[in-house]
Amino acid sequence: MSAPNDVLCALADDYYVPVYRPRRIVLERGRGSRIFDIGGREYVDFGGGIAVNALGHAHPALVEALTAQAQRLWHTSNVFVSEPPLRLAQELVEASGFARRVFLCNSGAEANEAAIKLARRWATAQGREPERRVILSFRGSFHGRTLATVTATAQPKYQEGFEPLPGGFRYSDFNDLDAAEAAMAAGDVCAVLVEPVQGEGGVMPATEDFLQGLRALCDRHGALLMLDEIQCGMGRTGRLFACEGYAVVPDVVTLAKALGGGMPIGAMLAGPKASETLQFGAHGTTFGGNPMAAAVARVVLRELSSAALRANVERQAAAIRAALARVDAEFGLFAEVRGRGLMIGAQLRPRHAGKAAEILDRCVDHGLLMLQAGPDVLRFVPALNIDDVDVADGMARLQAALRDFVAG
Ligand SMILES: *Cc1c(COP(=O)(O)O)cnc(C)c1O
Repeated sequence: MSAPNDVLCALADDYYVPVYRPRRIVLERGRGSRIFDIGGREYVDFGGGIAVNALGHAHPALVEALTAQAQRLWHTSNVFVSEPPLRLAQELVEASGFARRVFLCNSGAEANEAAIKLARRWATAQGREPERRVILSFRGSFHGRTLATVTATAQPKYQEGFEPLPGGFRYSDFNDLDAAEAAMAAGDVCAVLVEPVQGEGGVMPATEDFLQGLRALCDRHGALLMLDEIQCGMGRTGRLFACEGYAVVPDVVTLAKALGGGMPIGAMLAGPKASETLQFGAHGTTFGGNPMAAAVARVVLRELSSAALRANVERQAAAIRAALARVDAEFGLFAEVRGRGLMIGAQLRPRHAGKAAEILDRCVDHGLLMLQAGPDVLRFVPALNIDDVDVADGMARLQAALRDFVAG
């Protein structure tokens, strides 16, 4: 490794609050699904900045939208109106088919935080007996790192040591409808918060029965169905919204990650049941709906809505799965390959438990940026416009990395 690389990594060790443990490469520029480090070394990017760079790096239309807006107006706050976020909200409502209104913010956690606050206000407005304050979420979920969203995140490893956690959260097993029914039996649940495809929890798709069953349970108990599509939304599953693939109409959907194509932005979309709940003064954010982020997100939304992109998601997902099957025939590493569209998880067999991080290191050695989803799952969340050559190259590099891994 080049000296400047080591120097910069050492600085990261010294100056950052050490909550991350980044791989020891310093990335400098990207183009499409290729990315280059400061030494000029090229990588195929299968991680897409954690499902964020849905149109790859330096997409010309996004660069154009950003630079044009950067010459005009950077920030207004929400005390005034500017056109890019306004148009984005309108276009999200129109594209969704289920939403009436949009709250723009800066990240996924903030979008979920807004949804949680909305749910509580909504319950307050119902004012029925028994009081309904409880948000039901699911084991293996991930909803963010703020105190409320980390509490909704039903994984102890994210919560430990941060007690006392906010009250009014309950957990149930993912894809277990009977358990959800029991968890809602007391009638005190105001909202169910669920990822149609769990991301951080190992790339775990909800079953149709589960998600449709949750819709029915919410209707029966007068609770809101809130879908966290921060990772699985925005075209990732082959539909603009993951819920379309489940034929489920949600009351609230949260978006972030791919929405900005790399610009920080989040959104909470509210359907008719929930769109009038938060009134003047009930919630807010200084940066939310930032004109530069919104100008880029509008182009992202337009590009991700195209039939050609949707077809590419199906095509490249099939190519990755076929290549994974070939790799597995050679090495026998995977217990299961699962997911939806270009959100694919390859679960390692028990004898390789905990080895995903080691495989990711081997991938870097071979010029491939990969992600894990927990200690045992390789996660593929490439750009949705990735082409045949980049997929083929990336899978060849993965195969070489796995050969090293198996050889020990
Ligand atoms: C990443 C993620 C979040 C949190 O988003 P941040 O922008 O990191 O706050 C929430 N939910 C899901 C499903 C995510 O994948």
